[in-house]
Amino acid sequence: MNNEILLKHLRNVPDFPIPGIQFKDVSTLYKNSKCLRIMVNELYDLYKDKGITKVVGIESRGFVVGAALAYKLGAGFVMARKPGKLPAETRKESYMKEYGKDTIEIHTDAIEEKDVVLLHDDLLATGGSMLAAYNLVKQFNPKQTYINFIIELTIEGLNGRAVFPHDVDITTLIKI
Ligand code: AMP
Repeated sequence: MNNEILLKHLRNVPDFPIPGIQFKDVSTLYKNSKCLRIMVNELYDLYKDKGITKVVGIESRGFVVGAALAYKLGAGFVMARKPGKLPAETRKESYMKEYGKDTIEIHTDAIEEKDVVLLHDDLLATGGSMLAAYNLVKQFNPKQTYINFIIELTIEGLNGRAVFPHDVDITTLIKI
């Protein structure tokens, strides 16, 4: 039922940012008070017993629900950002995208070995960007690492889950 509400409010933008891409625009879920509450509450129910101490949001759509969830879980929030945005010392992880290389960064002092980390982003497509974030978080050697997306794209033969190690706990709220 809740998933139907989210699906109903999610906007699809054809041919953005390039022809052929069906862009799932989560801004229509973020701006809707009921949808925002559903997402945060559902994620809270999924993770409230996991002992999460840090939620890591992926720039930038992963910041919105990630930060709200961190607050509700009583955890801290960490930004995983594009290169050159974080001001202090960082750890980095590079990964290949369709056209060239990209890098993601986290402050060196943002995660400790005693942390239980939940990585969060809006959408799973190929999984490439989250895999880089996952590998980056693993550099910090936290006690446990979980992964969540609001949306999982399974259309057009996409199977983003397949890029992650089999023992990683991945949840998604809606599959399309
Ligand atoms: P990927 O690394 O291929 O899993 O891509 C995931 C990232 O790209 C997420 O941060 C999404 O916000 C964005 N993204 C990729 N494909 C789409 C899509 N069809 N609609 C909306 N966002 C997308």
